Amino acid sequence: MTMVPAFHTDTDPEDLVYHDQAECPYGNEVKRNGNSKPGTAGRHLCGWCTSHR
Ligand SMILES: [Zn+2]
Repeated sequence: MTMVPAFHTDTDPEDLVYHDQAECPYGNEVKRNGNSKPGTAGRHLCGWCTSHR
């Protein structure tokens, strides 16, 4: 997997995660929607990114 700088979105408050894998489908959806913000914002790593390191 390809690690990228941590990013997250603040548009879905019930999903307090960040992503750091380029292939993450959830992270890619965030990027596709244009809601990507840099950093972890103190969130935990998303489940997909956790299991595809
Ligand atoms: Zn992710």
